[in-house]
Formats: sequence, structure tokens, C-alpha cells
Amino acid sequence: MLRLLEKYFQGVDPDELLTAVGLVSTSEAEVSLNDGSPAPRRRQSTTMRLIRDSALAQQIKDVHGHHCQICGVRLRLPNGSYAEGAHIRPVGQPHNGPDEPGNILCLCPNDHILFDRGALTLTDDLQAFDEVTGQVKGDLRLAPQHMISITHVAYHRETARQAAQPTH
Ligand SMILES: [Zn+2]
Repeated sequence: MLRLLEKYFQGVDPDELLTAVGLVSTSEAEVSLNDGSPAPRRRQSTTMRLIRDSALAQQIKDVHGHHCQICGVRLRLPNGSYAEGAHIRPVGQPHNGPDEPGNILCLCPNDHILFDRGALTLTDDLQAFDEVTGQVKGDLRLAPQHMISITHVAYHRETARQAAQPTH
């Protein structure tokens, strides 16, 4: 199975793929671990990376005091606080969202991944919406100097819901 994955589905998360095609049991008691490797192999690769404005992301995090705009948490590290700048409309292809304040949120890592994977969306009146439970989680935390683009919010929500549709 792994060989098949390596041959035909390079770059695809194997767990996600196997789950998507129903080959992985969701019962945790049945999960067994392979041996892993004491010395993981390395592979050299060349990638195209977008150059993002990290100064802008830092400003947005500062505006919100590193509090997550969805859940309000602020992670404290020994040398300060931690939050992530999250693009609403993804900047990569095929979405090509802008690296502008209205398209960036300050989020905790958990809410960032949930938002990126479409488990969390925003309503047009800027409430966080849980796409898994179908319930509103609460109001997005806002700052007067940081306006959020409703256009990008709607784009993100529609893209998330399209991706959640069964493909067959
Ligand atoms: Zn959060």
C-alpha cells in the first residue's frame, strides 16, 4: 500500500487519502504502529515559495496582542507570546489571495489549521462557524484598525463547503 501511495500519490498526505477512500478504520483500538526509523531518510526538493509580508503579519498579531481572534487564547512562550498570521483567501494557487490586512487573521495554531482545512469558517457578520457541528462558536474578536474583508470571508466559506462535498 505504501509503495502504491509513493508511486501514484506523491505529495498527498497518505493518512488523509486512506481515510478519504475508506481504507483506514477510525476505531483507535485497531490502530497499529509500524516500526518507524531511527534515521529518517532525507530527500532534496526544490519548491516555489511565495514571499509574504511577515512585517504585516507581525503588526496584525501585535494589534490583537497575540490573542486568537476566534477563541481568544494567547499562547505564552518563555520569550514572549505566540500566534499565527492566517490568510483568509489562501495566497497560493489557485486562490491567489492578497497579502493585505483585510485578508489576514491572528489565530492560535489549532484554529489556524481548522480554518485552513475548512472545519471553521466565518459568517458574513463575522461570527466563527463550526462546519463540523453546524454551530456558531461566537463573534470574531475585532480591532478598530484591522478591517476584515467580507469578500474574502465569503470566498473562504464557499471554498470550504465545496471541498466538503462528496466527489462521487
Ligand atoms: Zn484559537
